[in-house]
Amino acid sequence: MKPDRYAVVGNPIGHSLSPSIHALFAAQTNQAMVYEARLGRPGHFAEDVRDWFRNGLHGLNVTVPFKEEAFRLADHRTARAQRAGAVNTLWAEADGTLTGDNTDGAGFLRDLSARMGLDPANRKILILGAGGATRGLLEPLLHAAPARLVIANRTPERALELVASFAGLAGATHLEASGLDTIPDGPYDLLINATAAGLGKDALNLPPGLLAATGLAYDLVYGPASRPFLDWARQQGAARVSDGLGMLVEQAAESFAAWRGIRPDTGPVLREIRQTLEAP
Ligand code: NAP
Repeated sequence: MKPDRYAVVGNPIGHSLSPSIHALFAAQTNQAMVYEARLGRPGHFAEDVRDWFRNGLHGLNVTVPFKEEAFRLADHRTARAQRAGAVNTLWAEADGTLTGDNTDGAGFLRDLSARMGLDPANRKILILGAGGATRGLLEPLLHAAPARLVIANRTPERALELVASFAGLAGATHLEASGLDTIPDGPYDLLINATAAGLGKDALNLPPGLLAATGLAYDLVYGPASRPFLDWARQQGAARVSDGLGMLVEQAAESFAAWRGIRPDTGPVLREIRQTLEAP
């Protein structure tokens, strides 16, 4: 029997770790499937994706810059994709229609709680950035009931928009927006960098005193690009720091579970992918 076919689409896509992650999941769970990287063509995303599914693709992961287009393309969306306004996982239903899901937020929360042991309940959280990634994190974070959640963005209006659209989910959480130069005083228990890749402390120019002595600094970016922010956080006395590789593996596991109905054990896969990433 032919293996089921899956892929990730993005542009650029050459350095994607998703094919390696899914190959390890498939081997671990004995799934007959192949998973490859495909370069997306700006302006042709929808037609290409429909074509791939017509030709037998079972499922697709979507990465930068196509997550919003994938959202528009999907015929049905899960509630969390609807809330995030972006889709990173697609699959075909029996009638050929496409369902879109967003596994980023769930992947982040799982990495945070299961690997880093941090329960957001009653914590003070600061998110830097108000783009698509932050939008995906807000529902699961608010669901975990932090005491305070501040979204600080270079363009404060975008942070304000997010606060307005998620206010209904805030419950007892004090949810607020700010600019990067007007961040309300810390200290915060969790500081998340969800700005675009490769930003150093000079680009963000953050004030001192943001991190609690027991605080965790988490950069959604992984590998060398996360170093400037995590180095800055260490200098600020962060008790723990993490890049976003665990989130990447966890969001992939969420997609895999949606497609295959089986949840892989992410720990060994994360260790192996980390070794690959750090190999000279
Ligand atoms: P996005 O929608 O393009 O948003 C980018 C954000 O970065 C905006 O808030 C933007 O602020 C801010 N920004 C850009 N340049 C800046 C600068 N020079 N100074 C200060 N702020 C700046 O991107 P995204 O989809 O949210 O992704 C954010 C990051 O998360 C990306 O690096 C992405 O690779 C990463 N990510 C990782 C995972 C994972 O699994 N580990 C998953 C999803 C995303 P303005 O609004 O002012 O432009």
